[in-house]
Amino acid sequence: MSRTERLIAETDKYLAHNYHPLPVVFTKASGVWYEDVEGNKYLDMLAGYSAANHGHCHPRIVDVAYEQFRRLVVAPRAVYSDRLTEFGKVITEFCGMDKILPANGGAEAVETAIKLSRKWGYLNKKINNDHAEIVVCNENFHGRTTTIVGFSTEKQYRNGFGPFTPGFKLIEFGNPDALGRIITKNTVAFLVEPIQGKGGINIPERGYFKEVQKICRKNNVLLVLDEIQTGFGRTGMDFAYQWECIRPDVLIIGKSLGGGLAVSGVLANDEIMSVMTPGDHGSTFGGNPLACALAMEGVSILIDERLSERSALRGGYFLSRLRDIKSPLIKEVRGRGLMIGLELTVQARPVCEALLRERILCKETRENVIRFTPPLVISIEDIDWAMERIEKVFRKLEGR
Ligand SMILES: *Cc1c(COP(=O)(O)O)cnc(C)c1O
Repeated sequence: MSRTERLIAETDKYLAHNYHPLPVVFTKASGVWYEDVEGNKYLDMLAGYSAANHGHCHPRIVDVAYEQFRRLVVAPRAVYSDRLTEFGKVITEFCGMDKILPANGGAEAVETAIKLSRKWGYLNKKINNDHAEIVVCNENFHGRTTTIVGFSTEKQYRNGFGPFTPGFKLIEFGNPDALGRIITKNTVAFLVEPIQGKGGINIPERGYFKEVQKICRKNNVLLVLDEIQTGFGRTGMDFAYQWECIRPDVLIIGKSLGGGLAVSGVLANDEIMSVMTPGDHGSTFGGNPLACALAMEGVSILIDERLSERSALRGGYFLSRLRDIKSPLIKEVRGRGLMIGLELTVQARPVCEALLRERILCKETRENVIRFTPPLVISIEDIDWAMERIEKVFRKLEGR
């Protein structure tokens, strides 16, 4: 039995089986490269679902982590910490919002945004108690808590986990008229991803969000953007909403915010955030000094290394190379920046397994889409290296 086989068998023994991982065991990583326990190197084309935009174990992140770990790690919100203050200033400036409410994981931040929107609605729209409605989209992905999976359109996320939280209404993604039609006097917010990631890298037509913003403003409904995956340079801008020259009322961030660790947050302007009063909401680890230090360093790296710009340029190159592959197995290639989806006419999982054998890590989403979201530090040479192998895999699968 190889080391890999033994570790996989032991993982199966001790860990809950709520995932179906690819058969590889990583032990370290640097930049865009992973190394497995047998010493093989893999090009990361997943970046931890966009949690590693800065590349793995970025030396500046590592240094800040060491230093902060030695200095102060636990400082609950019962007190103040210097890092928390600095974090608040840096992140709100970067995001162009007045205030942040820090949390840990993405789903937790989405839950926070739901609570914030509801309370804002009750105070500002005079909605009867327990009648607030939030509009969400088909194929959405906002996390895995009971409330959030309650409004998922993916059967497996829901089956066996009910009963669910009421107060959510589903509409088609990318259709502004559908939003206009579903809003009632009880609607407090429209919660949506700028580009649906897990839903299959679904990019709405240009102008969609301009229209959405207009409808939200006209009806006094909050536009709540989940940029957990699309934020921090992923789509070639700091935030995906910048492509449409709009501004969300509430912005949810996570994943790469922490430079590799779980850090998330909800941002809004004073008028909205002021509905949160002491005791309304909280989190033991939210805003801890280590998380704050890492997030600040992450933002600084993003700016210093011009990662958003790199994402736009390298993403454009990668997209055009993928579009050059002429294969009957490829239905569509779509993407923005380094958030790219390859829609196949066949199941995507076996293709990802074949790519893994060629030392490329990527993962399918839905049945037939391969998601390519490499760290933003990927080079043209890395992309060329990957393209050789991707082309080879398609030639092989077609039996050429
Ligand atoms: C990953 C993701 C989440 C959930 O984040 P977790 O940290 O896994 O809870 C929510 N929304 C979007 C758009 C995501 O990509």
